[in-house]
Amino acid sequence: MTATPTLAPRISGIKPSPAPVLRRRARELRAAGRDIIELSSGNLDFPTPDHVIAAAHQAALRGETRYTDVEGTPELKQAVQAALRRDHRLDYGLDEIVITNGSTQALFNALLATLGPDDEVVIPAPYWAPYLDQVRLAGGAPVVVPCAQNNGFKLRAEDLQAAISARTRWIVINNPVNPSGALYSPTDLAEIAAVLLQHPDIFVLADGLYEHIVFNGTPAPTLADIEPRLKPRTLTVSGLAKSYAMMGWRIGYAAGPAALIRAMITIQSQTTSGASSISQAAAVAALDGAQDVLAERAAILRTRRDRFTELVNGCAGLSCAPPEGTFYLLVNCAGVIGKRAPDGKAIETDRDFSAYLLEEAELVVFPGEDLGLSPYIRLSFANPSATIEEAARRLKRACEALQ
Ligand code: PMP
Repeated sequence: MTATPTLAPRISGIKPSPAPVLRRRARELRAAGRDIIELSSGNLDFPTPDHVIAAAHQAALRGETRYTDVEGTPELKQAVQAALRRDHRLDYGLDEIVITNGSTQALFNALLATLGPDDEVVIPAPYWAPYLDQVRLAGGAPVVVPCAQNNGFKLRAEDLQAAISARTRWIVINNPVNPSGALYSPTDLAEIAAVLLQHPDIFVLADGLYEHIVFNGTPAPTLADIEPRLKPRTLTVSGLAKSYAMMGWRIGYAAGPAALIRAMITIQSQTTSGASSISQAAAVAALDGAQDVLAERAAILRTRRDRFTELVNGCAGLSCAPPEGTFYLLVNCAGVIGKRAPDGKAIETDRDFSAYLLEEAELVVFPGEDLGLSPYIRLSFANPSATIEEAARRLKRACEALQ
């Protein structure tokens, strides 16, 4: 008989992050011979740029295969410092920067370093699901604030004000937003800043992972660059995953008050010992090298966005607006809820609709239920144009087959 481990109370109620679950399911179905199209993916189809791969190779050949400083190599911290100046006019000292295993770890270390029992974190919905369970794992309580489609899925100042309590420690502002593609403008952020200035104890977790996947040519602003008075209580988090198509290299970073960064480094020293030496060398090349790749890829994504938006709006019961950033369409599927599949099964939720699309059209999509807002599905256009065309054909047929 195999022994069953007794799990800690902190893990009870924590679900696996939904994105890797869908990724695995798509792989299994493909292995079973199904012609699956993954519209759920956060993996860009672009390769990591050649000069970045070459830098990793060279670093490995040079023997940069040892532990690095826990907080990251001096070279990468300097490259991050320069990138924050270049993209946001933000000045951080090297003692205010930490390199992490993906931005996921930066976010978690910050929460672990600061949350006490039942401390609250305000999270606008729709959201990137791990924010919630990271807060819970760190002992805190997520406070979800729905952001309606008729306000462009953006957090309104009055809703933020209403969500704040004496226990609020953090507010998460992801710009542009996964999954809605909403982009907070400097004016939008100034309205949020005005509320936060009245609450001097609340910190801002500014997640800019998609900051370069925007279609207006300017990196997405963060609260620290819009309102300098908030900089001392903002943790600016980003990473290389989406900007440079380096999802698997696992490099993220955070910049903020030195005392917080020190606490995050302490946690890192006791848990992962820091990020991979080879990946850090690659990240230096990405941040310090030519930046043309950002605009070139944003232009490709923009073309795909326009085409996919048009095609999805041609599907019965579905509607969406073109997102201003990220590579996701958040599609309103209220028009298919209440219908029936050809086999008689009722479509009552966006999860039912997602299951139907997998069965009927071999499309893997992200149900809004996992993103904190229903009835929606999230469709990724991090796929080649031909795949997008085929996916849209299947989507249209599947919607037409509903009664
Ligand atoms: N924030 C957001 C909004 C994300 O969508 C993701 C991943 N898709 C992350 C953070 C974490 O990314 P990584 O750890 O790869 O940097």
